[in-house]
Amino acid sequence: MKKITIAVDGFSSCGKSTMSKELAKRVGYVYVDTGAMYRGVTLFCLRNNLINGDKVDEEALAGLIGGIAITFGIDDNGSQYLMLNGENVEKEIRGMEVSGKVSIVAAVPLVREAMVDLQRKMGENKGVVMDGRDIGTTVFPDAELKIFVTASPQIRAQRRLDEMRSKGNTEVTFEEILFNVEERDRIDQTRAVSPLRKADDALVLDNSEMTISQQDEWLMNEFKKRVEM
Ligand code: C5P
Repeated sequence: MKKITIAVDGFSSCGKSTMSKELAKRVGYVYVDTGAMYRGVTLFCLRNNLINGDKVDEEALAGLIGGIAITFGIDDNGSQYLMLNGENVEKEIRGMEVSGKVSIVAAVPLVREAMVDLQRKMGENKGVVMDGRDIGTTVFPDAELKIFVTASPQIRAQRRLDEMRSKGNTEVTFEEILFNVEERDRIDQTRAVSPLRKADDALVLDNSEMTISQQDEWLMNEFKKRVEM
């Protein structure tokens, strides 16, 4: 069967990674969570005091970025985790501190350049499901299947809250998460380099009212149509 490239873009916390992971597992493709990569760079910036308010010290980062290694590992349960210079930082990159700064770091052109290069290498042999914000527009504009996922900010915030609660985080509130979701939407859509937007040839999936298994089936169907063509 021919191998294709699948680009899944959309707003934060709208279930992109859940559906992308499931599809990759079912069809034996590699899954790449590009948001995790930007989160890893953000953690690096925080640890090295390169962020002051909503400003990133781009000059200092330019000198250090060559020394940042972003890779993925797989744990005993088959789950992927992000590594920053060889250290498993999966837990830290999902916290509110990184979530609060990731969109400003991801707006820095030199960060995007480095991550897009890496993503293109990861997907050069096709057979990949990549989720992010600019996969169908910038990273793989020729992807055979492009999906743009959306859901209302309230629904997305509630899903994020449920996920954090299930991982034992009892401190964060719905309002904090909603603020973070809306703020990231705003920054992601208005940045100068590769803003979040639907590729002209992407299919829109609004999953506000869909169950996870409904969206998995929908995506599987679209995949089959492309590989059987
Ligand atoms: O997907 P996730 O919510 O983990 O992504 C975190 C942030 O990384 C996004 O809010 C966005 O600012 C940035 N991002 C990006 N381009 C991508 C993936 C993520 O700018 N391809």
